[in-house]
Amino acid sequence: VRDLEIDQSSKLDCSIIDRNGKVKICRLPDYIPQLSEVDTSLFAVSICTVDGQRMHLGDSDIYYTMQSTSKPYTYGITHAALDDVLHEFVGHEPSGQAFNKIILDNQGRPFNPMINMGAIMTCSLVHHEQPLSHRFNYFLEHYKKLTGSRSTLSCNMPVYKSELEVGFMNKAAVNYMMTMGCWKGMIQSEEQLLKNLDLYYQLCSIEVTTEIQSIMSACLANRGINPITGESVLPIRSVKRALSLMFTCGMYDYSGRFAFKYGVPAKSGVSGVTDVVIPGVLSMTIYSPWLSIHSSSSLLGLQFIDGFIKKFPYHVFDSR
Ligand code: GLN
Repeated sequence: VRDLEIDQSSKLDCSIIDRNGKVKICRLPDYIPQLSEVDTSLFAVSICTVDGQRMHLGDSDIYYTMQSTSKPYTYGITHAALDDVLHEFVGHEPSGQAFNKIILDNQGRPFNPMINMGAIMTCSLVHHEQPLSHRFNYFLEHYKKLTGSRSTLSCNMPVYKSELEVGFMNKAAVNYMMTMGCWKGMIQSEEQLLKNLDLYYQLCSIEVTTEIQSIMSACLANRGINPITGESVLPIRSVKRALSLMFTCGMYDYSGRFAFKYGVPAKSGVSGVTDVVIPGVLSMTIYSPWLSIHSSSSLLGLQFIDGFIKKFPYHVFDSR
């Protein structure tokens, strides 16, 4: 995958000839200016099995922000606290639309927790009456347990600020949700509303390496138990729901095709990271910044998954 031919036409655009000889157009997510400042040659893969065996390739110690790959964890943590009550506020249908589309289902809820509107709603529901510092810390402490490390996990300030400064689409989305009564009276002021967006951005800006994130995704592969520490971090009930949502909605408007082709739960993020979970077996986290313009997911990440699943056919519907 690392040797695929990349023809860079500008600082932000390139074309890549994929493993099947097809030309794929890629772009960096310049709508978050800080994410387009990245070194595009980075490539990393980390694998963690449910019995704690680990393997790393490439730039696996380089930090990047989780972006949308934070969504399944944020969902799992919120579901563990509120159970299915949270689905009174957010649905579980794929939207079939881009991750930032402003759209509600026929019950007036964001379609699912794996797209922006749904993730903003999800993180706004836990301890919403508490100060923002407490709410961020609540998630961070759970994230830390997922990583299995007691050392600090932090937010990348420039990326966080970059999104706050120019995230006009998400601002429009929260204003729209407010107008449509999505919070059912839980939020009264613009200040409260924007705090939820702030929390969402902080969670998207958490910095990890593939080495760290593959342990988080291995907790999902391992029924909520961290394979390194042995600690039960999320209830199996919440993990099952998170994986179902990743399977049906995790790759945005490419989710159906991805599930059809590869048959495993996955989640991508615009920093170029992709998490793949093979329940009961292993998880992998792949990082490479160029995004396919069709799926808003890492092109080299998708290419790696394609090669991996062809070699090891883990499709959940494969009879073995
Ligand atoms: N923080 C990004 C946003 O809100 C996350 C999007 C993504 O990774 N798809 O737009």
